[in-house]
Order: sequence, then structure tokens, then C-alpha cells
Amino acid sequence: MEDRPGKLVVISGPSGVGKTTLLRRLLADLPDLIPSVSATTRPPRAGERDGVDYHFMPVEEFEKRRAADEFLECCRVYGRQHWYGTLVAEVTPRLAAGKWVVLEIDVEGTLSILERFPQAITIFIEPSHPDQLLQRLQGRGTESPEAMARRLEVARRELHEAHRYRHRVVNESVDEALGEVERVLATEGFSSAAFHPRPSPPRQPTPEESRT
Ligand code: 5GP
Repeated sequence: MEDRPGKLVVISGPSGVGKTTLLRRLLADLPDLIPSVSATTRPPRAGERDGVDYHFMPVEEFEKRRAADEFLECCRVYGRQHWYGTLVAEVTPRLAAGKWVVLEIDVEGTLSILERFPQAITIFIEPSHPDQLLQRLQGRGTESPEAMARRLEVARRELHEAHRYRHRVVNESVDEALGEVERVLATEGFSSAAFHPRPSPPRQPTPEESRT
């Protein structure tokens, strides 16, 4: 066990905001950051792998593990259809070993985590404009119209909760959002031999400056 305890990073944002891509790039940039693989009762999408994207499990197993207190938090997302949860085993031993662990969970889950880990570093990813969510969900084409409507309704509610997060990052371009998240982690004390936070993008001149 290391002297310094690890830290918990919680990333949330509405469906369609580009969290998954952002997180994948973040983890590729920062190999010392450990992702917590959530458990879910939702069926895998094409290309998703058990134990990598999620621990996929039938509802009976989820219930059994919930009763055995194996989750730090869990809830039913999207019209109460599927269960999602953070397993204690994915987080606690790594924190005790001094690692930084990152969770990608919804707002309700974040609030439960904050009750147990008030020092968690919370980051909310926001769209640059509301239409971005609809366009991304339509482009992804993985959801039925009803499921998409449900996700957009949940997204609308989640955007109202953004103020509860310690940091907010607008995802207009993945590169810029990634740089911003890395700078947030650096200000929160993340460091490793391989980590050099991306520099801030050059400031765009104001219209007045461009005229002169
Ligand atoms: P998806 O079905 O698109 O993979 O994820 C749906 C939502 O579930 C996302 O908003 C994601 O953040 C959330 N989610 C994923 N894992 C967990 C978890 O372990 N706990 C909670 N509370 N939400 C989760």
C-alpha cells in the first residue's frame, strides 16, 4: 500500500455528449488512471465486451450482488429499465493502493458517491448547444425512437444538475475538452511520469482585435 491514498474521479454528462470517446482518449493518454468497469443488466451493444465495457449480468445476479452489499452505488437509469452500478471491488482496493480511479456514471450515482466520498473530483461534460445531443444520438443509431426520447428527457434533467459538480467542461471539440479535463486533473494533483497536460488552446482574437 502507498503512503498517498488514491483519488476518485467521477465523470458524468448527458447521453450523446461524447463522454465515451472522451474517456477512451483520456485513458489512452493517462495509463495511470484506472477505469472502474460498471455492472449493468442492459444487454451488450455490438462491439461491447464483457469485463471491458461493462460487467454484463442478468438481473437476478445483479440483485444478489446488491443484497450482498457489493455495490458502492447502483440505480436504474432511463425510465427505470436497466440497472447500473459501481462495484466496491473495482474501486476500494485501488484507492487503498494509491491509484486514481475514474467512474463514468450518471448524476444520481454521483450524488450517492459524494455521500461516501465527499472529496471525489466530479467533472460534468456539457454539450456546446442542446441540439448536439440529438444529432449525436441520431448519428449513433443504436437507440429506438422511444429509447432516444427517454435519453433526451433524462439528459434535459441531468443538465439542470451540472452545478453540483466541482468542474464543468464543454465538449465542443474532443481535443479541447480532453485538454481541459487533463488540466483539471493536473490542478487536482494528478501526476505521473508519462503525464504532460495538454497546453491550453491559443486564445482566439476578439472581433475588435481582428479588425486592428
Ligand atoms: P449506456 O447505456 O449508454 O452505456 O449508459 C447509460 C448511462 O448509465 C450513462 O449515463 C452512464 O453514465 C450511466 N452509468 C454507467 N455505469 C453506471 C454506474 O455504475 N452507475 C450509475 N449510477 N450510472 C452508470
